[in-house]
Amino acid sequence: MTNEFALAIHGGAGVLPPADMTPAREAAYHAALARVLAAGEAVLAADGTALDAVTAAVTALEDEPLFNAGHGAVFTRDSTHEMDAAIVDGQGRRAGAVAGICGPRNPVHLARAVMERTDHVMMIGDGALALARDAGIALEEPGYFFTQERWNSLQQTLRMQAEGTLDDDPARRHGTVGAVARDRAGNLAAATSTGGMTAKRAGRVGDSPIVGAGTFADNATCAISATGDGEAFIRRVAAHEIDARMRLAGQSLTDAAEHVVQVDLAAHEGSGGLIAIDRDGTITMPFNCAGMYRGTLRDGQAAQTAIYT
Ligand code: ASP
Repeated sequence: MTNEFALAIHGGAGVLPPADMTPAREAAYHAALARVLAAGEAVLAADGTALDAVTAAVTALEDEPLFNAGHGAVFTRDSTHEMDAAIVDGQGRRAGAVAGICGPRNPVHLARAVMERTDHVMMIGDGALALARDAGIALEEPGYFFTQERWNSLQQTLRMQAEGTLDDDPARRHGTVGAVARDRAGNLAAATSTGGMTAKRAGRVGDSPIVGAGTFADNATCAISATGDGEAFIRRVAAHEIDARMRLAGQSLTDAAEHVVQVDLAAHEGSGGLIAIDRDGTITMPFNCAGMYRGTLRDGQAAQTAIYT
């Protein structure tokens, strides 16, 4: 087995349609993705764990206002923010998740606190925020999460809903961030964080914090972080389906992930994609929509970032 590390990240399948993308915006996305890869690389190159690398990468993605998570999260129909996040350690399938929270600057830190400081897997509401305070996690006022672009998207979505003209523009509707990694010791980890879908009902929870749907890791098979229409990813139990195809049917990561994204999800209103890595460090990043903000970094090699096909 290789002892090289590898990292993949995504900034969501809610990409700007190519017609709306300017060279300056495109450059800003690539630069942001490169900064995030550098944050993960700093951990892995120092022999850090896959768990610490995905935490560092998702923290950096949450801090980037360009992406729908943390600062830059989309609004609910009530003009609030409700964020979901999960982290899974491929060693022993340890997992932590939070749903519908607003407060922690980095929701992925609270997901990790659920995993490391409690006997639970998923927490919501005041209890989750109490854990954040106990764990000394940085908290922000709601205004921190505001971005003008997401506010405009909400107003546009509400107007189109009222007029009955709502279309399928992925950039306005959704987005998510995530990372998967393999460290030099062969451990896998995955983390995902999101504001969810623009104008979602308060209380709606997507696939990102649901272990086996939008986030998954097991050292024996793969680590996965998904992005797209969360309800479809939950119904197809997308990440677990890939694990099961590898574990029970002997499929390769690439074949299993391709099938789930291009056949299962595509046939069931599951527009989106995912990033996945296996224990050999193979990375695959299939999507069935216009694009997915994404990047990869391999031990000793230059970082690569991409948006469209
Ligand atoms: N999967 C996320 C959700 O449903 C949204 C996205 O990735 O675009 O909350």
